Amino acid sequence: MNTHNLLILICILYAMLLFAVAFAADRAARKGRGAWLSSPLIYTLSLSIYCTGWTFYGAVGFAARSGLEFVTIYLGPTLVMVGWWWILRKLVRIGRSQRITSIADMLSSRYGKSNTLAVFVTVFAVIGTTPYIALQLQSVTLSFAVFSGQDPTGMTIKNLQQPALWVAAGLVLFTILFGTRNLDANERHHGVVMAIAVEAVVKLLALLAVGVFVVWGLGGGLNGTLQTIDASELAEWRVPGGRWVGLTMLAAAAFLCLPRMFQVLVVENQNEGHLRTAAWAFPTYVMLMSLFVVPIAAIGLKLLPAGSNPDLFVLTLPLHGGQDALAIVSFIGGFSSATSMVIVAAIALSTMVSNHIVMPIWLRLTGGSLMKSGDVRGVALLARRFSIGAIVMLGYTYFHFSSGGAALAAIGLVSFAGVAQFLPALIGGLFWRGATRLGALAGLGVGFVLWLYCLFLPSFGAGVIVPVSVMADGPWGISWLRPYALFGTQGMDPLIHAVMWSIMLNTAAFLAVSIVTFPRPVERLQGAQFVNVFEHSSRAGHWTGGLAQSEDLLIMTQRILGPEEAQALFSGEARRQGLSGYLPEPSTEFIERLERELSGSVGAATAHAMVSQIVGRATVSVEDLLAVADETAQIMEYSSRLEAKSAELARTARQLREANDKLTQLSEQKDAFLGQVSHELRTPMTSIRAFSEILRDGDDLSRTDQQRYSSIIHGESLRLTRLLDDLLDLSVLESGRASLNAQEGVLGDVLDRAVAATGGSGPEFRIERDPAAERIVLHTDIDRLAQVFINLISNARKYCDAPEPALHIDVRDEAGALRVDFIDNGSGISVPDQAVVFEKFVRIGQTRSGGAGLGLAICREIMNRLGGDVSYLPGQRGAAFRVTLPHNLRIAAQ
Ligand code: ADP
Repeated sequence: MNTHNLLILICILYAMLLFAVAFAADRAARKGRGAWLSSPLIYTLSLSIYCTGWTFYGAVGFAARSGLEFVTIYLGPTLVMVGWWWILRKLVRIGRSQRITSIADMLSSRYGKSNTLAVFVTVFAVIGTTPYIALQLQSVTLSFAVFSGQDPTGMTIKNLQQPALWVAAGLVLFTILFGTRNLDANERHHGVVMAIAVEAVVKLLALLAVGVFVVWGLGGGLNGTLQTIDASELAEWRVPGGRWVGLTMLAAAAFLCLPRMFQVLVVENQNEGHLRTAAWAFPTYVMLMSLFVVPIAAIGLKLLPAGSNPDLFVLTLPLHGGQDALAIVSFIGGFSSATSMVIVAAIALSTMVSNHIVMPIWLRLTGGSLMKSGDVRGVALLARRFSIGAIVMLGYTYFHFSSGGAALAAIGLVSFAGVAQFLPALIGGLFWRGATRLGALAGLGVGFVLWLYCLFLPSFGAGVIVPVSVMADGPWGISWLRPYALFGTQGMDPLIHAVMWSIMLNTAAFLAVSIVTFPRPVERLQGAQFVNVFEHSSRAGHWTGGLAQSEDLLIMTQRILGPEEAQALFSGEARRQGLSGYLPEPSTEFIERLERELSGSVGAATAHAMVSQIVGRATVSVEDLLAVADETAQIMEYSSRLEAKSAELARTARQLREANDKLTQLSEQKDAFLGQVSHELRTPMTSIRAFSEILRDGDDLSRTDQQRYSSIIHGESLRLTRLLDDLLDLSVLESGRASLNAQEGVLGDVLDRAVAATGGSGPEFRIERDPAAERIVLHTDIDRLAQVFINLISNARKYCDAPEPALHIDVRDEAGALRVDFIDNGSGISVPDQAVVFEKFVRIGQTRSGGAGLGLAICREIMNRLGGDVSYLPGQRGAAFRVTLPHNLRIAAQ
């Protein structure tokens, strides 16, 4: 096997290992066994995607060319990590409380959930990152070239397109598989993060191994190496102070703003406390990564022939020393650095593209109606997967068409300078309540244009995009507009020149426009939440709508988060508010929380737009509030407190009114029922009495008459007994005197029994079931459970008014509980009626007589006794009842 094929085999095996790691981590997380996945160490290791293929190979090249300057690239992030409590902690806290999905989402959310801003940041991020992805592909192909025996300096990129394409395709596959498994960005990508952590260890060990070999194997030990360094030009090069400070600041800014760094730092962060560990562990990691950079550079310059590419010393030195195996280890290290960067960057960018570009367009195209059929979740996932492919392939295309070499090598820092433009709006948004959306847009716009003009476009080389004449004399001969000498600042380093002007004017525009413009209410609100994230803010809770609105919200949420999660969220909130069932009050507090939950899936701007469609008035009332109490924060908070109190009062009054209504309704129904009971008792009693008198007195009755009368008497007494049985049953259950008889049984059998008892499934009433899901062994009072099932099925039979009535029985075995849903296709039960169907004696629609309205009350009592529950499930096709049984069923204590 030649080296080339061997390398490909190694890459494939390595990729398989990563797949296995990611798969195992995902599985562990889903089974709830993943506590170790969220350790601070894993978090720290995931931050290492900062060290990409460019840093793995390039740091040595950087050192060989410019001496100690490469240290700035590591110094910047170290400063950020050490000073974490200042900015990072705030970012992470906001990221969690607002369920931020990306840096675009962060900025958009801070500035009033503005989608324009999000689109702008997304496009900017894609432009800045594409060349960087190309750079990673290039570093992988260059390392291939070293092994193929080609001289990498003189080789043509063309014949190495193939490996790059395969690597790109593999990365797309991996990212799609593990990066878009679930939609909610806040559920986090355990698999990916774990794989990244493994790659972090691999690349560190690889670099250390090469370093140890170079120092002790080639450089003659510590002393020899120090002598070589002293003798080399590295020791002589002096570093200009301005460039040092500039580069360090640039690296620090990029560390916070790079979309991929934001992804691991903020979005994937599980616990604020992890920052404490990362504050020392990440600088240590980075220090170890840079430990051998200078020795490798110095010894490489000494031992390898003049003109060898210093970017590849990490590979060529082991090869030179005859250590092929070590060279392969080093190759894997570089491969790890490159792939982990591309994976995380693709996840981060695809989230931005799908949430801020594809989803809004899709929402607009579908008429903005959310109640229509169609799965929002599916669309969002598809958009995300498609974007991942598009982004990586864009990187590949860039790599394909840029001929590699010089233009690409500078791209790392160019990219840093691009994303650094987010910094003023980001920091301003965190600490200054007066920052406005227009200010942010202006700052970003100015920064972006200057970056393009002074750095990005010229980086392709004079004459490629920017004409030589413009570079030399400025556009139209205006010399103070020369891209490398703006406003007469001659003789500066082009990078520092561009960073200085772009950041300076960006900040100036941001401040100036923010001061002269007036923030919209939503911006103000978000601004206050961001700036004061650490203060416990108790803001006003307006009651905005009724339970019917909650049902609409539930339907929409089910379509975004999926039914399980949506129902859990709603019933949890309802319980918190002291209500039963699935529909909480749509208080402002809840609506804000809901918006944040949804923004984890579709981004803040989209979530806000969707929720406002249903509760459009919520923002208006805040607007009113703010218009009045706008002057100072104190006034606003004071007024919020008042507002909270009055909303609280209004809510209490409403709850009292509802309770009162319910009581009146119940008492009326009870009266009606007593009348009904007397009536029902009286009618059979009358006929029993009449016919028994006839039987007693009528000596000449024929045999058939006798039989007929006695069977009437028998039938009527049966009816009486049933009614009395029900009443008795209920009173026994209610008083807690009912004894339960626990047995083992299979759920499917219990359902079979209930279906058979109610007349079976047939064309006149179809019952759909999933026998596979019903194979669950229960340990409970089987007869009582069957009684509940029989009641629910016979109710569906009696009351389902569809032309082709059908009942769907859906069984789900979940971590917390076993759920059996009975969903029919009738017109269901209206929201006000849902609140009372489980009460005793309640029948809806007096005309549809049947039972006495005791069935569901009995069901609820039984389920309570069995330790489970039965409740109405709103937001389905027709009437729907959910029976919940806890796992490890035990009979509730007597
Ligand atoms: P009953 O003994 O009258 O059936 P239940 O307590 O079982 O009393 O049910 C109470 C009321 O709830 C019924 O009168 C009926 O109006 C309504 N109901 C129950 N199940 C359904 C259903 N599947 N579809 C429509 N209405 C229903």
